[in-house]
Amino acid sequence: MAGLNDEINRRRTFAIISHPDAGKTTLTEKLLLFGGAIHVAGAVKSNKIKKTATSDWMEIEKQRGISVATSVMGFNYGDYKINILDTPGHQDFAEDTYRTLTAVDSVIIVVDVAKGVEQQTRKLMEVCRMRNTPVIIFVNKLDREGRDPFDILDELEAELKISVRPLSWPINIGAKFKGVYNIYENSLDLFTPSKTQVTERVEIDNIADPRIDKAVGEKDAAKLRDDLELIEGVYPEFSTEDYLAGKVAPVFFGSALNTFGVKELLDCFVKIAPSPRPVSALERTVEPSEDAFSGFVFKIHANMDPNHRSCIAFVKVCSGRFERNAPYRHVRSGKIMRFAAPTAFMAQKKSVVDEAYPGDIVGIPDTGNFKIGDTVTQGEELHYRGLPSFSPEMFKYIENTDPMKAKQLEKGIQQLMDEGVAQLFVNQFNGRKIIGTVGQLQFEVIQYRLLHEYGATVRWEPLSMFKACWIESDDPQALEAFKKRKYQFMAVDRDGRDVFMADSNYVLQMAQSDYPAIRFHFSSEY
Ligand code: GDP
Repeated sequence: MAGLNDEINRRRTFAIISHPDAGKTTLTEKLLLFGGAIHVAGAVKSNKIKKTATSDWMEIEKQRGISVATSVMGFNYGDYKINILDTPGHQDFAEDTYRTLTAVDSVIIVVDVAKGVEQQTRKLMEVCRMRNTPVIIFVNKLDREGRDPFDILDELEAELKISVRPLSWPINIGAKFKGVYNIYENSLDLFTPSKTQVTERVEIDNIADPRIDKAVGEKDAAKLRDDLELIEGVYPEFSTEDYLAGKVAPVFFGSALNTFGVKELLDCFVKIAPSPRPVSALERTVEPSEDAFSGFVFKIHANMDPNHRSCIAFVKVCSGRFERNAPYRHVRSGKIMRFAAPTAFMAQKKSVVDEAYPGDIVGIPDTGNFKIGDTVTQGEELHYRGLPSFSPEMFKYIENTDPMKAKQLEKGIQQLMDEGVAQLFVNQFNGRKIIGTVGQLQFEVIQYRLLHEYGATVRWEPLSMFKACWIESDDPQALEAFKKRKYQFMAVDRDGRDVFMADSNYVLQMAQSDYPAIRFHFSSEY
């Protein structure tokens, strides 16, 4: 039996992130094809929630179902065990994606060569930067007309605020695209548009090899040599250490749809990407190789079937060996629990597992015990720090329209907030409940789910607000004075912490300059 360390070292747990349409689903599918996890293209369903579907509730439910099915995809590739964690592309579910990023050890960012860095990618990169997550960038759709690769590199650096280092380089682009030179392996891959065909590789000794001229023509070969010289001059040599520290992002070019550049990406990825890393808990840093099992819940997904009020809690194993039916401690409640039917996700199938290792994700059927961020251990009092909640961007008052169902509503709101669908604040002045989200669609989902899963009907009332920020101060008097002055705009979050609800950017800026003793935080972890 392989030891714990071997199991840890062969694991690669990562997420692919991109702006919608850059090619995340296509790339995921091609990676699964290489891993033998699927056999036909088209097998991976996109979990995109389409904007047009917002009024069609069944459609949203269906789409949410797809997203649970594709939440984690595990497969073996050579000696490696790879876990891909899926992230919803739709920006209304950005919180979901942020939290998924707490459970991965590295990230692959997909960028469309024509569109460059788009808004959603920029935001997600901020989260990676906060956590020093190593990132690899895949510039996709080289078979289409796009931008000059040097311009793309400059844009990646400027927009994602990270140094980049190309590890492959395209020969032309669009209709004239001929292939990529793999800097990492010193090889030349020729492009043939194809959905399944394996790339044709030209054996070469080095960049001066005349076989390159023969393969792509003298003119393009000369340009390639010039480009590579420039790259070697401008970009420092690639350092795996800097990549692992989140300081430099290696860049690959290819076309996911044509399965081109994908295997090279994967081969480099398994070599350089980190195996499960130490995770910091409030109390101490936990090494994956410790004997005792520990893990945390990073995602909760409600059951699709409203008649079964059960959820799946997704637990990332952080240390030790997870075993089915072993007594584990749910730290927040202090309860000892045994998990009789933990599921793992291999290929496209979900099945009950007897054990899991650091880097793996286990799905635990749950009836309301778990909250996002909960820690499970073999007994130790540990609290993993999840990702902070970010200040939401849209706010509405939530109003009960059926007084007979107040209890159900309370429970429903409670559970949906545990799932991390949105954030709840209570205005201290008028006692009204405020729901904050990152997108309009979430209000619709909440209303729908409250009705269908809890039998509670609600109405939204508009609330014009710019930002909710957590406040604190070392000076209790200054804090009291501020709260008194702003009493109409003070709320508390679910943990009872003070939140200032600024109705405009101007008001917020004034408050910040008028009350220097107060610290304003835009995420809940400070
Ligand atoms: P996602 O929203 O990031 O998951 O993007 P998808 O993987 O669904 O891709 C969006 C669209 O781009 C689809 O129509 C894909 O077929 C297409 N696409 C993906 N990769 C490529 C590529 O390399 N070349 C071209 N021409 N189209 C691609």
